[in-house]
Amino acid sequence: MSKVFNVEEIFGKNVFTLGKMKERLPKNVYKEVVKVMNEGGELSKATANVVAKEMKDWAVENGATHYTHWFQPLTGITAEKHDAFVAHPDEEGKMLTEFSGKELIKGEPDASSFPSGGLRATFEARGYTAWDITSPAFLKESGCGTILCIPTAFCSYTGEALDKKTPLLRSMEALSEQALRIVRLFGNTEATKVTASVGPEQEYFLVDKDLYMRRTDLMFAGRTLFGAPAPKGQEMEDHYFGVIRERVGAYMKDLNEELWKLGVTAKTQHNEVAPAQHELAPIYETANIAVDHNQLVMEAMKRVAIRHGMRCLLHEKPYAGVNGSGKHNNWSITTDNGVNLLDPGDTPNRNIQFLLVLACIMKAVDTHADLLRQSASDVGNDHRLGANEAPPAIISIFLGEQLEDVVDQLIETGEATSVKEGGRLRTGVKTLPDFKKDATDRNRTSPFAFTGNKFEFRMVGSADSIASPNTTLNAIVAEAFCEAADRLEQVEQKDLELAIHDLIKEYMAEHQRIIFNGNGYADEWVEEAARRGLPNIKSMIEAASTLTTDKAVRLFEKFRIFTRVELQSREEIIYETYAKTINIEALAMIDMAGKQIIPAVVKYSKCLADTVNAVKEAGADPVVQLELLLKVNARLAAMQTALRRLEEVEEEASAMTDAKAQAFFYKDTVKAAMEELRAPADELEMIVDKKVWPIPTYGELMYEI
Ligand code: ADP
Ligand code: MG
Repeated sequence: MSKVFNVEEIFGKNVFTLGKMKERLPKNVYKEVVKVMNEGGELSKATANVVAKEMKDWAVENGATHYTHWFQPLTGITAEKHDAFVAHPDEEGKMLTEFSGKELIKGEPDASSFPSGGLRATFEARGYTAWDITSPAFLKESGCGTILCIPTAFCSYTGEALDKKTPLLRSMEALSEQALRIVRLFGNTEATKVTASVGPEQEYFLVDKDLYMRRTDLMFAGRTLFGAPAPKGQEMEDHYFGVIRERVGAYMKDLNEELWKLGVTAKTQHNEVAPAQHELAPIYETANIAVDHNQLVMEAMKRVAIRHGMRCLLHEKPYAGVNGSGKHNNWSITTDNGVNLLDPGDTPNRNIQFLLVLACIMKAVDTHADLLRQSASDVGNDHRLGANEAPPAIISIFLGEQLEDVVDQLIETGEATSVKEGGRLRTGVKTLPDFKKDATDRNRTSPFAFTGNKFEFRMVGSADSIASPNTTLNAIVAEAFCEAADRLEQVEQKDLELAIHDLIKEYMAEHQRIIFNGNGYADEWVEEAARRGLPNIKSMIEAASTLTTDKAVRLFEKFRIFTRVELQSREEIIYETYAKTINIEALAMIDMAGKQIIPAVVKYSKCLADTVNAVKEAGADPVVQLELLLKVNARLAAMQTALRRLEEVEEEASAMTDAKAQAFFYKDTVKAAMEELRAPADELEMIVDKKVWPIPTYGELMYEI
């Protein structure tokens, strides 16, 4: 019988929650912790020591032997180096475990092998980790036993960010500060903080472990590099929201349990569009915690899959020809007195505030469409964006019919006097329409869609950290808020309402081109977007240089989110990462083609040739056998030529020293050679005897689970 568990009992069991701190810490210490959490600043040494001791005692009571400063380097995943709670034994040889406030707050993992894009050579080799007190410490249970994980930011000695968390925290502060200026204009004096909330919907594939182990490409590149389509793909749409298979169900159950213990509110689970594709969505939470938790979700997905004899594929495009995986990043901004700035609300005051916020977001997204697109790029996502399944690579905003109509009216006349579907206005204030909740119909093809009280940024890749998209979103919106506030704060109270209307009208008119409610997959949209002057950046490496334009540097430096040097280092890392990834893919293909596929086909062609001869000898005409032999032989020759070519360009690529040039060479030349090698191999798969085909097929990978 399966284990019975109670969600209420296990939820947050492995988290050093505020509740646990309240129970364990002296009142004044607890108060100081809460104050620093809410207002920033540093814990006093004495307080830090008390917190550290209690945290350690709690961890040890729950089986922990080690602690780690858990951080998020620019590899996009998390890193940890474990330190045992051991100290010098006393004279009698007794061990008293130790963990000081200093160890809690600051670490020196060195970690000089993480990508720094040249930063650490320029500055200082050491990397430091600093506790992010707003994200709770937790216990990770794995093969290593139980480890106390302390979420941290990772910086160089001189303070340059070497991770994804530092800029995110900086962007959250910037957004809070600027958003407060906006709500103050509307008389909100209570709010002291504005928080970005995020709910990421995580898509993933599962595959049987034994089949996975027989695919070099899946093992090393996380995606298939060869593979003819299965007879059945996703065309029947019978997998989407379908009944969850037993084995997958058992996996989901286990996964949920792990996540709940870690305080992750795993909420929704379902089958996705492609066979063997699934989704998990948690309840939204503060951006930095959501980022940490999404990393835990991805880790747990992989770990639990192993326990169930499967592997979890987080790659954006594990299989050609069926949907890939993304991660819709739902984002909203809320004051600490409970007002969601993206909720149109039903009071006039909120309405106009909402319209101003909306106008600012339109301005932000239009002005920095390039940066937003960049923030959602990773190597795997190049296979999705613009490839007719995921959102296009062009950024646009979907508002829904009702809201778009309001925007149109505001632009035309400066007033919105009616609301579509919602009937006449209730407020009696001409310029302030009531919005009907959920009047936004769903538009699945939009990369940035308003969905009732949040924006859903749908470009993000399934394997990617959500730190960058949220850092960028926070930053660009903070800038628009700042510019609006700079102007409106100059206006006298009696003229304020009019000034706000004027500003809304001005921003909306100026940035209307970013609104698109139509079909984002259509070719006409690509043309229309070009006419509107919207950027259409096709790949991750083409997007990289958007980080270092004057516009971007101005934005990020103004809000102290990135320095120019940090941005340059990040651009560099993108080129390096891209080149390394495609290099691995190319090598995996060379390996599979040379050691598995070609030898198998050579054997098979011999078998065909023998058959041709045998049939001839027996006095019959081997017409079919011969036709097949010729077909196979032609493709075999094509494969061999393409393999040679790939080997050549791969060698040329790996010898290149300029990171940017190398990345582009991988994209334009190596990838083309990879496609040339794949095409004849996939054709061969369709005509060669299944028994001799050396690697599991798409049909097996996607259906045998
Ligand atoms: P759908 O598939 O229809 O987009 P889901 O329920 O799968 O919806 O996911 C919606 C996600 O949006 C969830 O993670 C949810 O918590 C999150 N979400 C809901 N409201 C907000 C909000 N105000 N801010 C941020 N995220 C939100
Ligand atoms: Mg969604």
